[in-house]
Amino acid sequence: ATPMSIISGVGRAAESGVLVRDADALQRASTLDTLVFDKTGTLTEGKPQVVAVHTLGGMSEAEALSLAGALEQGSSHPLARAILEKAGNALPQMNNFRTLRGLGVSGEVDNRTLLLGNQALLAENGIDTRALDEQLQTWASQGATPVLLAVDGQAAALFAIRDPLRADSVAALQRLHREGYRLVMLTGDNATTAQAIAREAGIDEVIAGVLPDGKADAIIKLQGQGRRVAMIGDGINDAPALAQADVGIAMGGGSDVAIETAAITLMRHSLTGVADALAISKATLRNMK
Ligand code: ADP
Ligand code: MG
Repeated sequence: ATPMSIISGVGRAAESGVLVRDADALQRASTLDTLVFDKTGTLTEGKPQVVAVHTLGGMSEAEALSLAGALEQGSSHPLARAILEKAGNALPQMNNFRTLRGLGVSGEVDNRTLLLGNQALLAENGIDTRALDEQLQTWASQGATPVLLAVDGQAAALFAIRDPLRADSVAALQRLHREGYRLVMLTGDNATTAQAIAREAGIDEVIAGVLPDGKADAIIKLQGQGRRVAMIGDGINDAPALAQADVGIAMGGGSDVAIETAAITLMRHSLTGVADALAISKATLRNMK
């Protein structure tokens, strides 16, 4: 039979906006030592904005935005939304659109072949990006995500896209850090960008450049080092990692798949709930001993 104290722990959690799937989830949550956070939409607001544009070969900013915006009409990625918002409405038509998972997008606009995405995407296509390197490193080290545009096989423009930390992220992470958890960020984003944001957030370790299918593998690797791992995420992409973790924690308002997979769901979209959930699990299990 389930001990009364666990039932009352699940009830107390619910009162503070933390839905715990079952008694076993609460028990596992009391034994964690490592917390892995998805970056976009979990640590950050998930509403990125284009903050700067750099172009090559005499291309105007307006043309770069128009080409990139035309292409992103095919994508629902948060970075696509940022570019579309900046590019405005009168966009040229786009053909042969493709999503290249974890890399970016491709297609044709005005009979020109476009690639838009990260450095790996352009490198894979044999495009020389050296002329963009210096600006890219500067923006990435300031925590902006660099998105590169190639036109007909030539590097043409660079966009700096910023997604600020959620207002309450830093305080919640500090509290978790004080309580002795190792804090890890897991992201498909550029490593330099991720490290800059991690420093701002007070995160101990960054695992960057992870393809969507690689998130669960990153959790397995930490578990292989003897760690007891919670994964905190909000996206469809996060579901396999939420399932693999010792405890999966879904942010409120995230994707349904994340919520269905997670052992714990936060009613609010705030990391304060993570600290509350773990404190309640520990207090509950302590009372049983
Ligand atoms: P994350 O959600 O952690 O950013 P993704 O796997 O969705 O990870 O994307 C990884 C990287 O691929 C992005 O940081 C970006 O550089 C590139 N990318 C993916 N989709 C797009 C897109 N629609 N437009 C531009 N870049 C993209
Ligand atoms: Mg996310």
